[in-house]
Amino acid sequence: MTDLHRLSIRELSEGLAGSKFSSRELTEHYLKRIEKIDAQVQSYVTVTPEQALAQADAADALRKSGMANVLTGVPVAHKDIFCTQGIKTTAGSKILDNFISPYDATVVAKGKVAGLVTLGKVNMDEFAMGSTSESSYFGATKNPWALDHVPGGSSGGSAAAVAADLAPFATGTDTGGSIRQPASFCGLTGLKPTYGRVSRFGMIAYASSLDQGGPMARSAEDCAYLMNVMAGNDERDSTSVNVDADDYVANLNSTSVKGLRIGIPKQYFNVAGLDADVKSRVEESLKKLEDMGATLVEIDLNMTDAYVPTYYLIAPAEASSNLQRFDGVRYGYRCENPVDLTDLYKRSRSEGFGPEVQRRILIGTYALSAGYYDAYYVKAQKVRRLIQQDFLKAFESVDVIAAPSAPTTAYKIGASLDPVEMYLGDIYTIAVNLAGLPAINAPVGFDKDQLPVGLQLIGNYWSESQLLSVVHQYQQATDWHTKRAAIAEETV
Ligand code: GLN
Repeated sequence: MTDLHRLSIRELSEGLAGSKFSSRELTEHYLKRIEKIDAQVQSYVTVTPEQALAQADAADALRKSGMANVLTGVPVAHKDIFCTQGIKTTAGSKILDNFISPYDATVVAKGKVAGLVTLGKVNMDEFAMGSTSESSYFGATKNPWALDHVPGGSSGGSAAAVAADLAPFATGTDTGGSIRQPASFCGLTGLKPTYGRVSRFGMIAYASSLDQGGPMARSAEDCAYLMNVMAGNDERDSTSVNVDADDYVANLNSTSVKGLRIGIPKQYFNVAGLDADVKSRVEESLKKLEDMGATLVEIDLNMTDAYVPTYYLIAPAEASSNLQRFDGVRYGYRCENPVDLTDLYKRSRSEGFGPEVQRRILIGTYALSAGYYDAYYVKAQKVRRLIQQDFLKAFESVDVIAAPSAPTTAYKIGASLDPVEMYLGDIYTIAVNLAGLPAINAPVGFDKDQLPVGLQLIGNYWSESQLLSVVHQYQQATDWHTKRAAIAEETV
């Protein structure tokens, strides 16, 4: 079959169960696509054909024995931030260019238990710091919709791989928007779960109090399948919450759009830099939801102006602490011929980290240093609480909150070299992480250049089922999520 990449996860599961095709055929099909098409997109850092085919054969054997799970034999791509035993894990950095993890991240291990076949590891901004995937040591990934544009970041490899049909779905992580924004830029559905829902064990830390893994796929239904694998309590992650995960697939129709109260934050639609096409597409999608029976309620989120400064203190502060472990001694890159220990540390880190990571380490170290700690870090934590309260107050009168996922569509490669300008592009996503809330991106159309636009829906704590369900129903009534970039249409 030449069009296996066009099947949804449910169709793949049914096809495998009904022996319409084997996992080996499916895996070979994807590996062939990667080989033919990924040179243009550059979404993969590492492709693992041998392991993938071995996993596929094992999956086929399981299917034959009648012991298979729903997803046994379905391929996946993992963001290169999740540790994979025996396979290189780089976090997009030179400092981990030679790092082979001795263990699997919980998310990866759960994927194996579910029978997923790992195609390889996909590109990302270095240590997940960025919004374009350009800061990767391995070079920029391209947006499948327009190869001279970025796929967004930091999970840009995950987004590009799925949008080019080089993986049926992929894992991502979101510290300040890194699932939602690349999903938006590449016309995909991506869910950032509630903080604590998905284990962070073996997921290389950027900002520990904000990081959260989640699924990226074509539709809410496809995301629900991957969420069923990823979610759940993990005793190896002390911030993993002991709340039972839902059955997200079974819950796809659990929430009715009829009667759903959608909050429209006044402040969000007057942000300077909000692109006119993005605004129109998002408004049209809200109108559609209204036609389906939702009520739009104007709300106030008064702390909007504080999002970017608060996030860009807390995230770098935590990053500077987390990245101390990369010292040239324990793992990763070590400089040549150090003259003493200080020289070893300094040069290994200066040579191993790229400019964006160094910038964040400097900002974070400064904000945490004696004399500035209270003025910056403690203050930011207090503002963070106010931002959270702002959301919780809003959720007293609405069920979900709507926003664009990003003020613009995908940038041209090389266009966002000014870091502050790039940080401002995170305005719609970062507050969700500061508050620890779940949020989803759904594709809702295109701008004048045929680049995808995304709608973001933010939910209250543990409302992943609700978010997936609302988007699922929107996707039953519209076809934006079925649109494919020309490159994805290429048969190999
Ligand atoms: N763009 C944001 C940052 O650079 C978010 C990144 C992320 O979610 N990992 O911090």
